[in-house]
Amino acid sequence: MNLLPSLLILSLVFNVVLLFFLWLDHKNMKRKCEELELNGKLREESESRVDIALAGADLGLWEWHIGSDTFKLSHYATEILKLEGDDVIRTSSDWKMRIHPQDLPVRTEKLQAYLKNTSERYECEFRIQYKQGQWLWLHERGRLLDKNEVFDESLMIGTFFDITARKEMEKELLLLAMTDPLTGLANRRVFQERLHLEWSHSRRQPNYQAVIAMCDIDHFKHINDIYGHDAGDAVLKYFADTLSRCIRENDLAARIGGEEFAVILQDDRLSEARAWAERFRTQIASGVVIHRKVKIQITVSIGLASIDAEEPDLVLKAADNALYRAKHTGRNHVVVGMTPMVKQES
Ligand code: GH3
Ligand code: MG
Ligand code: MG
Repeated sequence: MNLLPSLLILSLVFNVVLLFFLWLDHKNMKRKCEELELNGKLREESESRVDIALAGADLGLWEWHIGSDTFKLSHYATEILKLEGDDVIRTSSDWKMRIHPQDLPVRTEKLQAYLKNTSERYECEFRIQYKQGQWLWLHERGRLLDKNEVFDESLMIGTFFDITARKEMEKELLLLAMTDPLTGLANRRVFQERLHLEWSHSRRQPNYQAVIAMCDIDHFKHINDIYGHDAGDAVLKYFADTLSRCIRENDLAARIGGEEFAVILQDDRLSEARAWAERFRTQIASGVVIHRKVKIQITVSIGLASIDAEEPDLVLKAADNALYRAKHTGRNHVVVGMTPMVKQES
Protein backbone atom coordinates (compact mmCIF):
# COMPACT_ATOMS: atom_id res chain seq x y z
CA MET A 1 0.00 0.00 0.00
CA ASN A 2 1.26 3.44 -0.85
CA LEU A 3 1.50 5.59 2.31
CA LEU A 4 3.15 8.57 0.69
CA PRO A 5 0.06 10.65 -0.20
CA SER A 6 -1.36 10.16 3.30
CA LEU A 7 1.95 11.23 4.88
CA LEU A 8 2.10 14.28 2.64
CA ILE A 9 -1.41 15.27 3.59
CA LEU A 10 -0.62 14.73 7.30
CA SER A 11 2.52 16.85 7.11
CA LEU A 12 0.63 19.56 5.27
CA VAL A 13 -2.08 19.60 7.93
CA PHE A 14 0.60 19.69 10.69
CA ASN A 15 2.39 22.63 9.04
CA VAL A 16 -0.84 24.53 8.60
CA VAL A 17 -1.70 24.00 12.31
CA LEU A 18 1.85 25.03 13.33
CA LEU A 19 1.65 28.15 11.19
CA PHE A 20 -1.69 28.98 12.75
CA PHE A 21 -0.26 28.73 16.28
CA LEU A 22 2.80 30.76 15.30
CA TRP A 23 0.53 33.42 13.87
CA LEU A 24 -1.55 33.40 17.05
CA ASP A 25 1.59 33.74 19.18
CA HIS A 26 2.85 36.60 17.03
CA LYS A 27 -0.47 38.34 17.39
CA ASN A 28 -0.37 37.91 21.17
CA MET A 29 3.19 39.24 21.34
CA LYS A 30 2.25 42.23 19.23
CA ARG A 31 -0.71 42.98 21.45
CA LYS A 32 1.45 42.71 24.56
CA CYS A 33 4.07 45.02 23.03
CA GLU A 34 1.37 47.52 22.17
CA GLU A 35 0.03 47.28 25.73
CA LEU A 36 3.49 47.80 27.21
CA GLU A 37 4.09 50.76 24.91
CA LEU A 38 0.77 52.21 25.91
CA ASN A 39 1.53 51.65 29.62
CA GLY A 40 4.92 53.34 29.20
CA LYS A 41 3.31 56.27 27.45
CA LEU A 42 0.63 56.50 30.13
CA ARG A 43 3.28 56.35 32.84
CA GLU A 44 5.38 59.01 31.14
CA GLU A 45 2.28 61.08 30.67
CA SER A 46 1.27 60.71 34.33
CA GLU A 47 4.84 61.43 35.47
CA SER A 48 4.92 64.57 33.41
CA ARG A 49 1.51 65.50 34.79
CA VAL A 50 2.87 65.06 38.34
CA ASP A 51 5.91 67.13 37.34
CA ILE A 52 3.69 69.88 35.95
CA ALA A 53 1.48 69.82 39.05
CA LEU A 54 4.50 69.97 41.38
CA ALA A 55 6.15 72.72 39.35
CA GLY A 56 2.83 74.62 39.44
CA ALA A 57 2.94 74.39 43.21
CA ASP A 58 6.63 75.46 43.18
CA LEU A 59 7.63 72.12 44.64
CA GLY A 60 10.82 70.26 43.83
CA LEU A 61 10.63 66.46 44.15
CA TRP A 62 13.30 64.07 45.36
CA GLU A 63 13.56 60.31 45.76
CA TRP A 64 16.00 58.57 48.03
CA HIS A 65 16.55 54.80 47.62
CA ILE A 66 17.99 54.11 51.04
CA GLY A 67 19.65 50.73 50.37
CA SER A 68 21.61 51.84 47.32
CA ASP A 69 21.81 55.45 48.58
CA THR A 70 20.70 56.88 45.28
CA PHE A 71 19.21 60.32 45.37
CA LYS A 72 17.25 61.65 42.42
CA LEU A 73 15.87 65.12 41.82
CA SER A 74 13.01 66.04 39.52
CA HIS A 75 13.69 68.41 36.67
CA TYR A 76 11.94 71.26 38.48
CA ALA A 77 13.91 70.53 41.66
CA THR A 78 17.17 71.11 39.74
CA GLU A 79 15.68 74.36 38.45
CA ILE A 80 14.89 75.57 41.98
CA LEU A 81 18.46 74.77 42.99
CA LYS A 82 19.77 76.50 39.83
CA LEU A 83 21.92 73.42 39.15
CA GLU A 84 24.05 73.52 36.05
CA GLY A 85 25.79 70.85 33.92
CA ASP A 86 28.43 69.62 36.38
CA ASP A 87 26.35 70.08 39.52
CA VAL A 88 25.14 66.54 40.08
CA ILE A 89 23.37 65.24 43.13
CA ARG A 90 23.34 61.44 43.04
CA THR A 91 23.63 60.37 46.69
CA SER A 92 22.30 61.60 50.01
CA SER A 93 25.86 62.75 50.81
CA ASP A 94 25.85 65.00 47.70
CA TRP A 95 22.66 66.54 49.09
CA LYS A 96 24.01 66.89 52.65
CA MET A 97 27.26 68.45 51.45
CA ARG A 98 25.29 71.41 50.13
CA ILE A 99 23.40 72.06 53.37
CA HIS A 100 24.65 74.92 55.56
CA PRO A 101 26.88 73.55 58.36
CA GLN A 102 24.80 75.40 60.96
CA ASP A 103 21.57 73.77 59.72
CA LEU A 104 22.86 70.26 58.99
CA PRO A 105 22.81 68.92 62.61
CA VAL A 106 19.14 69.90 63.04
CA ARG A 107 18.20 68.34 59.70
CA THR A 108 20.07 65.12 60.53
CA GLU A 109 18.40 64.95 63.92
CA LYS A 110 14.91 65.45 62.47
CA LEU A 111 15.46 62.94 59.69
CA GLN A 112 16.84 60.31 62.09
CA ALA A 113 13.94 60.86 64.47
CA TYR A 114 11.53 60.20 61.60
CA LEU A 115 13.42 57.16 60.26
CA LYS A 116 13.63 55.66 63.76
CA ASN A 117 9.92 56.21 64.23
CA THR A 118 10.31 58.63 67.13
CA SER A 119 8.68 61.32 65.07
CA GLU A 120 5.63 60.91 62.88
CA ARG A 121 6.64 63.26 60.11
CA TYR A 122 9.75 64.74 58.65
CA GLU A 123 10.02 68.40 57.79
CA CYS A 124 12.81 70.87 58.12
CA GLU A 125 13.95 74.34 57.06
CA PHE A 126 17.57 74.83 56.09
CA ARG A 127 19.94 76.72 53.83
CA ILE A 128 21.39 75.03 50.80
CA GLN A 129 24.30 76.23 48.71
CA TYR A 130 23.52 76.55 45.02
CA LYS A 131 26.67 78.40 44.05
CA GLN A 132 29.88 79.16 45.91
CA GLY A 133 28.82 81.37 48.83
CA GLN A 134 25.21 81.69 47.66
CA TRP A 135 22.42 80.15 49.65
CA LEU A 136 18.74 79.40 49.29
CA TRP A 137 16.41 78.66 52.18
CA LEU A 138 14.36 75.51 51.59
CA HIS A 139 11.39 74.01 53.40
CA GLU A 140 11.71 70.24 52.98
CA ARG A 141 9.22 67.48 53.74
CA GLY A 142 9.62 63.76 53.24
CA ARG A 143 7.81 60.45 53.60
CA LEU A 144 9.05 56.91 53.74
CA LEU A 145 7.13 54.45 51.58
CA ASP A 146 6.45 51.10 53.31
CA LYS A 147 7.77 52.43 56.60
CA ASN A 148 7.47 49.06 58.31
CA GLU A 149 9.06 46.96 55.54
CA VAL A 150 12.75 46.07 55.15
CA PHE A 151 14.53 49.37 55.77
CA ASP A 152 17.29 48.79 53.21
CA GLU A 153 14.76 48.50 50.43
CA SER A 154 12.84 51.55 51.49
CA LEU A 155 12.21 54.52 49.34
CA MET A 156 11.80 57.98 50.75
CA ILE A 157 10.05 60.61 48.71
CA GLY A 158 10.23 64.26 49.52
CA THR A 159 9.42 67.72 48.29
CA PHE A 160 10.89 71.13 48.94
CA PHE A 161 10.14 74.72 48.14
CA ASP A 162 12.12 77.94 48.19
CA ILE A 163 11.42 80.08 51.29
CA THR A 164 14.32 82.53 50.84
CA ALA A 165 12.06 85.57 50.39
CA ARG A 166 10.09 84.72 53.54
CA LYS A 167 13.28 84.20 55.57
CA GLU A 168 14.69 87.53 54.40
CA MET A 169 11.48 89.29 55.37
CA GLU A 170 11.54 87.62 58.79
CA LYS A 171 15.12 88.80 59.23
CA GLU A 172 14.16 92.36 58.31
CA LEU A 173 11.17 92.30 60.68
CA LEU A 174 13.35 90.97 63.48
CA LEU A 175 15.88 93.71 62.84
CA LEU A 176 13.10 96.32 62.84
CA ALA A 177 11.79 94.96 66.14
CA MET A 178 15.26 95.29 67.67
CA THR A 179 16.38 98.60 66.23
CA ASP A 180 15.66 102.25 66.87
CA PRO A 181 14.64 103.58 63.43
CA LEU A 182 16.16 107.07 63.82
CA THR A 183 19.66 106.14 64.97
CA GLY A 184 19.95 102.48 63.95
CA LEU A 185 21.08 101.60 67.48
CA ALA A 186 19.55 98.74 69.47
CA ASN A 187 16.27 99.64 71.19
CA ARG A 188 15.21 99.44 74.83
CA ARG A 189 14.00 95.84 74.51
CA VAL A 190 17.39 94.62 73.30
CA PHE A 191 19.07 96.59 76.07
CA GLN A 192 16.86 94.98 78.75
CA GLU A 193 17.53 91.50 77.40
CA ARG A 194 21.26 92.08 77.30
CA LEU A 195 21.22 93.52 80.82
CA HIS A 196 19.53 90.34 82.00
CA LEU A 197 22.11 88.18 80.22
CA GLU A 198 25.01 90.09 81.74
CA TRP A 199 23.38 89.92 85.15
CA SER A 200 22.92 86.12 84.99
CA HIS A 201 26.52 85.79 83.77
CA SER A 202 27.80 87.79 86.74
CA ARG A 203 25.75 85.62 89.13
CA ARG A 204 27.30 82.44 87.75
CA GLN A 205 30.81 83.87 87.69
CA PRO A 206 31.48 86.06 90.72
CA ASN A 207 34.66 87.51 89.17
CA TYR A 208 32.80 88.74 86.12
CA GLN A 209 31.67 92.35 86.13
CA ALA A 210 30.06 94.55 83.53
CA VAL A 211 28.96 98.16 83.80
CA ILE A 212 26.01 100.12 82.48
CA ALA A 213 26.38 103.76 81.50
CA MET A 214 23.23 105.90 81.28
CA CYS A 215 23.88 108.84 78.96
CA ASP A 216 21.50 111.78 78.62
CA ILE A 217 22.11 114.75 76.32
CA ASP A 218 22.06 118.00 78.31
CA HIS A 219 19.39 120.63 77.59
CA PHE A 220 18.35 118.80 74.46
CA LYS A 221 14.93 120.43 74.50
CA HIS A 222 16.67 123.78 73.81
CA ILE A 223 18.12 122.39 70.59
CA ASN A 224 14.65 121.49 69.36
CA ASP A 225 13.30 124.85 70.50
CA ILE A 226 16.09 126.94 68.96
CA TYR A 227 17.03 125.05 65.78
CA GLY A 228 13.93 122.92 65.13
CA HIS A 229 13.06 119.26 65.39
CA ASP A 230 15.14 118.27 62.32
CA ALA A 231 18.23 119.70 63.98
CA GLY A 232 17.33 117.74 67.12
CA ASP A 233 17.16 114.56 65.01
CA ALA A 234 20.52 115.34 63.40
CA VAL A 235 22.05 115.75 66.89
CA LEU A 236 20.58 112.41 67.99
CA LYS A 237 22.10 110.68 64.91
CA TYR A 238 25.45 112.35 65.48
CA PHE A 239 25.43 111.32 69.13
CA ALA A 240 24.53 107.71 68.25
CA ASP A 241 27.27 107.50 65.57
CA THR A 242 29.89 108.87 67.96
CA LEU A 243 28.77 106.46 70.67
CA SER A 244 28.92 103.46 68.29
CA ARG A 245 32.45 104.38 67.29
CA CYS A 246 33.57 104.71 70.92
CA ILE A 247 32.53 101.26 72.17
CA ARG A 248 34.14 97.86 71.62
CA GLU A 249 32.66 95.12 69.49
CA ASN A 250 31.16 93.20 72.43
CA ASP A 251 29.70 96.25 74.16
CA LEU A 252 26.17 97.38 73.42
CA ALA A 253 24.83 100.87 72.78
CA ALA A 254 21.07 101.39 72.78
CA ARG A 255 18.66 104.29 72.49
CA ILE A 256 16.25 103.79 75.37
CA GLY A 257 14.30 107.03 75.20
CA GLY A 258 14.10 110.40 73.40
CA GLU A 259 17.62 111.69 74.16
CA GLU A 260 18.60 108.91 76.52
CA PHE A 261 21.11 106.26 75.63
CA ALA A 262 22.38 103.25 77.58
CA VAL A 263 25.64 101.41 77.12
CA ILE A 264 26.68 98.02 78.44
CA LEU A 265 30.42 97.83 78.86
CA GLN A 266 31.21 94.16 78.93
CA ASP A 267 33.74 92.68 81.33
CA ASP A 268 34.68 96.07 82.77
CA ARG A 269 35.28 97.25 86.35
CA LEU A 270 33.85 100.60 87.46
CA SER A 271 37.27 102.28 87.32
CA GLU A 272 37.77 101.26 83.66
CA ALA A 273 34.20 102.24 82.83
CA ARG A 274 34.68 105.63 84.44
CA ALA A 275 37.80 106.25 82.31
CA TRP A 276 35.81 105.29 79.21
CA ALA A 277 32.92 107.59 80.20
CA GLU A 278 35.27 110.53 80.75
CA ARG A 279 36.82 110.04 77.29
CA PHE A 280 33.39 109.84 75.67
CA ARG A 281 32.08 112.87 77.56
CA THR A 282 35.12 114.92 76.45
CA GLN A 283 34.72 113.80 72.85
CA ILE A 284 31.06 114.88 72.80
CA ALA A 285 31.83 118.23 74.48
CA SER A 286 34.60 119.00 72.00
CA GLY A 287 32.63 117.97 68.91
CA VAL A 288 30.31 120.03 66.74
CA VAL A 289 27.18 118.98 64.87
CA ILE A 290 26.72 120.91 61.63
CA HIS A 291 23.12 121.05 60.53
CA ARG A 292 22.16 123.22 57.55
CA LYS A 293 25.39 125.17 58.00
CA VAL A 294 24.56 125.86 61.66
CA LYS A 295 27.08 124.64 64.25
CA ILE A 296 25.49 123.02 67.30
CA GLN A 297 27.45 122.05 70.41
CA ILE A 298 26.23 119.56 72.97
CA THR A 299 27.28 117.99 76.23
CA VAL A 300 26.28 114.75 77.92
CA SER A 301 25.77 113.63 81.52
CA ILE A 302 26.60 110.03 82.39
CA GLY A 303 25.65 107.80 85.33
CA LEU A 304 27.47 104.50 85.85
CA ALA A 305 26.57 101.37 87.81
CA SER A 306 28.12 97.96 88.03
CA ILE A 307 26.09 94.94 86.94
CA ASP A 308 26.67 92.67 89.89
CA ALA A 309 24.62 90.13 91.78
CA GLU A 310 21.92 92.72 92.47
CA GLU A 311 18.67 92.48 90.57
CA PRO A 312 18.82 94.24 87.17
CA ASP A 313 16.17 96.74 88.31
CA LEU A 314 18.38 97.84 91.20
CA VAL A 315 21.35 98.23 88.86
CA LEU A 316 19.24 100.42 86.58
CA LYS A 317 18.05 102.45 89.54
CA ALA A 318 21.63 102.98 90.72
CA ALA A 319 22.70 104.19 87.24
CA ASP A 320 19.65 106.50 87.02
CA ASN A 321 20.42 107.97 90.44
CA ALA A 322 24.02 108.58 89.38
CA LEU A 323 22.78 110.29 86.20
CA TYR A 324 20.41 112.42 88.28
CA ARG A 325 23.37 113.49 90.43
CA ALA A 326 25.41 114.31 87.31
CA LYS A 327 22.57 116.56 86.14
CA HIS A 328 22.31 118.28 89.51
CA THR A 329 26.00 118.93 89.82
CA GLY A 330 26.09 121.09 86.71
CA ARG A 331 25.67 118.53 83.84
CA ASN A 332 28.51 117.50 81.47
CA HIS A 333 29.60 115.15 84.27
CA VAL A 334 30.26 111.47 84.95
CA VAL A 335 29.01 110.07 88.26
CA VAL A 336 29.50 106.52 89.55
CA GLY A 337 26.47 105.09 91.31
CA MET A 338 26.23 102.51 94.04
CA THR A 339 24.15 99.41 94.26
CA PRO A 340 23.88 98.07 97.80
CA MET A 341 26.52 95.44 96.94
CA VAL A 342 29.13 97.74 95.43
CA LYS A 343 31.06 100.43 97.21
CA GLN A 344 31.43 103.59 95.22
CA GLU A 345 34.90 104.05 93.83
CA SER A 346 36.19 107.51 94.51
P1 GH3 B 1 18.23 117.68 80.70
O1 GH3 B 1 19.50 118.37 80.54
O2 GH3 B 1 17.67 117.79 82.08
O3 GH3 B 1 18.26 116.24 80.24
O4 GH3 B 1 17.17 118.43 79.81
P2 GH3 B 1 16.63 118.03 78.40
O5 GH3 B 1 16.06 119.23 77.73
O6 GH3 B 1 17.65 117.28 77.65
O7 GH3 B 1 15.49 116.97 78.77
P3 GH3 B 1 13.96 117.01 78.61
O8 GH3 B 1 13.49 115.67 79.12
O9 GH3 B 1 13.36 118.22 79.23
O10 GH3 B 1 13.70 117.08 77.05
C1 GH3 B 1 13.94 116.05 76.18
C2 GH3 B 1 13.37 116.43 74.84
O11 GH3 B 1 13.71 115.50 73.82
C3 GH3 B 1 11.89 116.55 74.82
C4 GH3 B 1 11.45 115.88 73.53
O12 GH3 B 1 10.63 116.71 72.75
C5 GH3 B 1 12.75 115.66 72.81
N1 GH3 B 1 12.72 114.48 71.98
C6 GH3 B 1 12.38 113.22 72.33
N2 GH3 B 1 12.50 112.37 71.29
C7 GH3 B 1 12.92 113.12 70.22
C8 GH3 B 1 13.23 112.82 68.86
O13 GH3 B 1 13.14 111.67 68.38
N3 GH3 B 1 13.64 113.84 68.07
C9 GH3 B 1 13.75 115.11 68.54
N4 GH3 B 1 14.18 116.03 67.72
N5 GH3 B 1 13.44 115.42 69.82
C10 GH3 B 1 13.05 114.45 70.64
MG1 MG C 1 18.44 115.47 78.41
MG1 MG D 1 16.17 112.83 79.38
